[in-house]
Amino acid sequence: MSVQSSVVSSKAVSSRPDFAVLGGGLCGRLLAWRLAGEGHSVALYERGDAAGSGAAAWVAAAMLAPLAEAASAELLITELGAESLDAWPKLLAQLPEPVYFQRNGTLVVWHHSDRAEASLFERRVRANAPAPLFDGGFLTLSGAQVDEAEPALGGRFHQGLLLPREGQLDNRQVLSALAAGLSERGVATHWNTSVDERALPDARITIDCRGLGAKPVLPALRGIRGEVARIHAPGIGLSRPVRLLHPRYPLYIAPKQNDIYVIGATEIEGEDMSPVSVRSALELLSAAFSVHPGFGEARILELNSQCRPTLPDHRPAITWDGATTLSVNGLYRHGYMIVPEVSACAARLAGALLEARIADADAFAEWRANDRWAPMLHQRSVAGPFGGSNASERTMPRAEA
Ligand SMILES: Cc1cc2nc3c(=O)[nH]c(=O)nc-3n(C[C@H](O)[C@H](O)[C@H](O)COP(=O)(O)OP(=O)(O)OC[C@H]3O[C@@H](n4cnc5c(N)ncnc54)[C@H](O)[C@@H]3O)c2cc1C
Repeated sequence: MSVQSSVVSSKAVSSRPDFAVLGGGLCGRLLAWRLAGEGHSVALYERGDAAGSGAAAWVAAAMLAPLAEAASAELLITELGAESLDAWPKLLAQLPEPVYFQRNGTLVVWHHSDRAEASLFERRVRANAPAPLFDGGFLTLSGAQVDEAEPALGGRFHQGLLLPREGQLDNRQVLSALAAGLSERGVATHWNTSVDERALPDARITIDCRGLGAKPVLPALRGIRGEVARIHAPGIGLSRPVRLLHPRYPLYIAPKQNDIYVIGATEIEGEDMSPVSVRSALELLSAAFSVHPGFGEARILELNSQCRPTLPDHRPAITWDGATTLSVNGLYRHGYMIVPEVSACAARLAGALLEARIADADAFAEWRANDRWAPMLHQRSVAGPFGGSNASERTMPRAEA
């Protein structure tokens, strides 16, 4: 039996639910909550606890920075991020717990010796971002303007960039508020319950949001390790995320409530979930210290590592197996930034499958052609971001009801 130690913590599903969502990290939690809000019966199975501490989402800095990310991400991601940024406040307003959300921009700075990084950054962002997002969304600041924007940095930087429309939120508050929202909407939540593909829970449609846990069915999926420090630094008072451009140690400092800062993040190929290395801790904390010496007196609350679930093309993918299973994965380093649009797109497709409006490849192709986010939609029999290997094209057998 592969469904273990199930704890049903809210309204039990008395009969076969419309949807079983596997994985209650960021994406699964939001998707289950959305589907329940549309009136569907939903069961959610999460290997970890209700807080979400087993998810990449628990460790993330949760910056919502489509323009800053355009320095290394393609147009699809930037557009998903921009739409999602507008969607977040509407989603948060429907949740039963408050979530810290800020749209005060991103400040980008660099030390004088690294000034070549600034023009490289601007060239990359300009190339990958749509003009309407860039225009008015990307401002060059003099040293005095940097000081005005972030008085805490007074006199430290000769130049900077302000990306005024960007945002961030508190990741752990989102996970908690979504858990409360699931309960409010009557989702049958099975925390501490691991599900594997050999024996799926009974449901009309299964949606696999297990992040890296979906590797047995998505062998092309890989983890990219990220390490962050959570520190308490009273008296500094940064008011928005600050990114430090550096050829070797690029860094962000994301201020949360109550003088908490998330400092990150390394990006290391490999599914290594071991604790943060000494080298990474030194690099992250030294870089923060170089932005503001006050960080030298901060207290380290946590050093965390996790792996970002990543597909070969670094894009998110919503994949239909041709029968009753959808997979939503590959959110990589952009989960918070893009999940409102990714989950909305997945919910639309899931609803169409449930109502049998999509029953074959032709119907799927027509659906895909009409969806704004078509590049994210795949059918597993068609070669896609999973590499087309036999193993990756396995469908998931359903357990005996
Ligand atoms: C260091 C770091 C910093 C980041 N910073 C940002 C940022 O600033 N902005 C941003 O947008 N994104 C950021 N991200 C990325 C973001 O966290 C991920 O993109 C996002 O969490 C992916 O969501 P997910 O739901 O697919 O996976 P996860 O959040 O990992 O959730 C998957 C869930 O599936 C569960 N699961 C796995 N296997 C099973 C199983 N067999 N049965 C049941 N449940 C299972 C896991 O326990 C987990 O809870 C960061 C990530 C890291 C690691």
